[in-house]
Amino acid sequence: MRLLIMGPPGAGKGTHAGALASLVGGPHISTGDLFRDNIARRTELGRLAEKYISAGEYVPDEITDDMVRDRLGRPDAARSFVLDGYPRTGAQVAALDALLDARGTGVDGVVALTVPDDELVARILRRSAVSGRSDDSEDVVRHRLAVYADQTAPLVRAYGDRGLLHRVDGTGSMEEVRLRVESAVAAAAGPDA
Ligand code: ADP
Repeated sequence: MRLLIMGPPGAGKGTHAGALASLVGGPHISTGDLFRDNIARRTELGRLAEKYISAGEYVPDEITDDMVRDRLGRPDAARSFVLDGYPRTGAQVAALDALLDARGTGVDGVVALTVPDDELVARILRRSAVSGRSDDSEDVVRHRLAVYADQTAPLVRAYGDRGLLHRVDGTGSMEEVRLRVESAVAAAAGPDA
């Protein structure tokens, strides 16, 4: 099964995507993690991405799409995967559709975590003490939330129009959210699964 996990910064995508990936039997592919890994290894891709990430801006589509195409082309992602943090722009949705279409497949379901903005800011600022992420300061966080609302929230609604969307309340304990996410995936898998 091919799943997307979407939601604003701090919603818990990374936390729940790992469990989801074990559930569907495919890799957890986080574009944020792939970029941070490239930055840490000082690759050319990392050098290109770094300035956007630190400013809370999206990395340009062509760079991001190429990275995702490479990753999805690896054998472990042939049948199942959980994409975390991609797509985030209309162009990325089109690129992903084209990529999967060429493989005769498509997205099977989208889990969107919802958390109120104030809670998101509080969570990220708490996390910033240990994350060491250059984009976890308050002004950059608020900018990331605005970019999300502007560019990515409409895409979540568009997946709703396709009948693929499962909105999950991302507040409460980690265990509560995990159970809600699991029911959403069971719904995405349909009655035969
Ligand atoms: P968060 O969702 O909390 O912002 P991520 O780790 O998913 O954290 O992403 C961190 C940053 O990496 C983003 O703010 C952005 O700069 C970059 N990034 C991640 N995914 C994408 C994407 N699909 N398109 C463009 N930039 C991305």
